[in-house]
Amino acid sequence: MAKKTNEPKLDFKTDWAYEPAPEDTKHISLKKQYDLFIDGEFVKPNSKKYFATYNPATEEKLADIAEADVKDVDKAVKAAQKAFTKWSKISAKERGKYIYRIARLMQERAREFAVIETMDGGKPIRESRDIDVPLAANHFFYYAGWADKLEYAFPNRNPKPIGVAGQIIPWNFPLLMAAWKIAPALATGNTVVLKPAETTSLTALKLAELIRDSGLPDGVVNILTGAGATGAAIVNHPDINKIAFTGSTDVGKLIQKAIAGTDKKLTLELGGKAANIIFEDAPLDQAVEGIVNGIFFNQGHVCCAGSRLFVQESVADIVIRKLKDRMETLIVGDPLDKNTDIGAINSKEQLLKINKYLKIGKEEGAELYQSSCTIPTKGNFCRPTLFLNASQSHRVVQEEIFGPVLTVQTFRTIEEVIEKANNIPYGLSAGVWTDKGSKIFNLTSKLRAGVVWANTYNKFDPTSPFGGYKESGFGREGGLHGLMPYLKF
Ligand code: ADP
Repeated sequence: MAKKTNEPKLDFKTDWAYEPAPEDTKHISLKKQYDLFIDGEFVKPNSKKYFATYNPATEEKLADIAEADVKDVDKAVKAAQKAFTKWSKISAKERGKYIYRIARLMQERAREFAVIETMDGGKPIRESRDIDVPLAANHFFYYAGWADKLEYAFPNRNPKPIGVAGQIIPWNFPLLMAAWKIAPALATGNTVVLKPAETTSLTALKLAELIRDSGLPDGVVNILTGAGATGAAIVNHPDINKIAFTGSTDVGKLIQKAIAGTDKKLTLELGGKAANIIFEDAPLDQAVEGIVNGIFFNQGHVCCAGSRLFVQESVADIVIRKLKDRMETLIVGDPLDKNTDIGAINSKEQLLKINKYLKIGKEEGAELYQSSCTIPTKGNFCRPTLFLNASQSHRVVQEEIFGPVLTVQTFRTIEEVIEKANNIPYGLSAGVWTDKGSKIFNLTSKLRAGVVWANTYNKFDPTSPFGGYKESGFGREGGLHGLMPYLKF
């Protein structure tokens, strides 16, 4: 094991004591070309078309990925339908065993998953190693446990699976989102057609290999790669019974329109613009760590990121000074280096979007502040950024940027901050930092957000439900609530 550094201790550690170094990528074998996973085997796409996936930190091409069209989607849905007749009838205990096996295999291959996730998506290896992969495995463990307890979870309601679930996921947590989607669907006896995002297909395809190796019956999980058109073909397929989507609010709205008038069930986990609220009585050093984790974790590519900071006026100067000092210590660069805090922006397109907002914020009159760190000249990188003196009407305050960019506003009273925090189209998450339990209870009931963290931020656990209000979507994933969208009663 490599020498320990004084890096901050992170939660979610498994007993996997591995610290990959950059040179470890040479032990990771990527194929030149990846096919579609349909009915238990890898098959060529009908169109014979492939698209390239790149390492966003180096701009190097990693592999070619198959692009699924309508015919491939139809083939996958038919395979999932056929598999459903058997999978929904095998004993729940057996179903659970298969899911446990997937979880254990994921732990065994954790290192490979973590390195590939970081190469393909740009997130720091410390995060994929200590958070994404262990949490993904934990989701499978957790839902494996529910498989034979559905009658207890929903007593006297005779829960039954729905059928074929079409699942479309984004690029910010590729493996973890696949786990969030697949694990509860399998535990409840459904079969799956899943599509990863086009910039981050590799860990979903590694998961397909793992699923094949696990012996899960053919067709229970099918993984199709491609872009928006492939996603739309899944959404529009008449034999899909349920859609679970995580992604942008714009695409969420398109999906909602597309399935209006059908009997497809739908859950949507969309954008966010969370308020992270610091009261004067908060433990300020801890709060500054929470602000940093809230916005700079995963380059800010987090739908529940604490992207709007509200600081009580009396402590604003000191909090902002401490925050700027802390930002100077953040290392931006090679995602495969375990000392890196902020990795690469996931794609050129996303970097352009972030840069567009940096321009908009300045034009609107907010004061731009960036840490003085050097960033690599190659690859997609962005310095940790603040917009000081931001105001409620600024677009950088109202719109989701999905990057390492934090707007800073101050407030005097609790009423004022509740009003400002809620005055936004989104309602996914929020953070509250205070010494007073009563204030926490008051705010958790008044903030219109699906998740409210108190004196912490960005903590995830398979047992706790996650999901939004307003334009952040509907339905919950995780916990007992996460079973419900996959059941009919
Ligand atoms: P982002 O803007 O963060 O890239 P998107 O919402 O565009 O997020 O993408 C999330 C997922 O939705 C991706 O897997 C993407 O390919 C897919 N997708 C994009 N457009 C559509 C669509 N019209 N119908 C279904 N899925 C889509």
